[in-house]
Amino acid sequence: MKFIETGDLSEIQSYIQSGIGGRLIGASDTFEFRCHPEVSCFNLCCRNLNFFLNPYDVIRLKQNLKLSSEDFIEKHTDIIVRPGHYFPDVLLRMADNAEKTCPFLTEAGCRVYLDRPHTCRAFPVEHGLYYDARKHQTRLVHFFRPPDFCQGWHEKTSWTLASWEADQQAAFYNQMTVQWAEVARLFQNDPFGGEGPNGQKGKMAFMAVYNTDAFRDFVLNSSFLKRYKVKSQLRVKVKSDDVTVLKLGMAWIRMFLFGLKVDEITLKK
Ligand code: SF4
Ligand code: SF4
Repeated sequence: MKFIETGDLSEIQSYIQSGIGGRLIGASDTFEFRCHPEVSCFNLCCRNLNFFLNPYDVIRLKQNLKLSSEDFIEKHTDIIVRPGHYFPDVLLRMADNAEKTCPFLTEAGCRVYLDRPHTCRAFPVEHGLYYDARKHQTRLVHFFRPPDFCQGWHEKTSWTLASWEADQQAAFYNQMTVQWAEVARLFQNDPFGGEGPNGQKGKMAFMAVYNTDAFRDFVLNSSFLKRYKVKSQLRVKVKSDDVTVLKLGMAWIRMFLFGLKVDEITLKK
């Protein structure tokens, strides 16, 4: 996922052409692609990846693997803080083998297919996040950028973004990616002061979105509910629904770290 901040869509196409390559795809554009086990490149795309996981990816994967969010993070990810960034990136840790394969790749294909991350669903389309400063809106932009070794784009099945999203069951992933991007964008400014992202507040912020089991425990078993009024629908669902916990976590970051007004929670008087 690339973050592009500009006021003009034509700037995005120039950015793509000048640097990362690919073709910007709009709602009415089409692209040709088909992936199936008979292609000569089968599974070549599932190795040696710099693979960024969004919070919702982690929820789906840890549920699939029947792990706690903490165990998933520990076992399957590397967490890095890039210079000039105020929130860590979570990378899927590739297997320790010569080809650095995805840990979920088997000879038969992907063993977490139904819960594969957003990047895998979108492939060979990549996402950028377009922030329209005039409208204060974040939305996804899409560009078609299969790697050279991918044979799928020589096949003759035609897609629009909408038909591809439906085929890959990616609509909810798209929504969650945009919601997370709006929070992640806030971290272009430092909310931690001298503490940095490894301080107390930084650890809390990370837990709020990437460690949903721990954040649920914090919400239900600390003084959180005495200090904050949580919307009643959310309060009921937070006990059993990871997505509700994530939405609460994102709202809490907006309010607690950035002083923004949110619908989900208010400070009790
Ligand atoms: S490289 Fe392309 S065609 Fe080959 S398996 Fe991956 S997505 Fe399919
Ligand atoms: S999660 Fe599945 S589809 Fe995605 S890279 Fe790993 S094996 Fe491939």
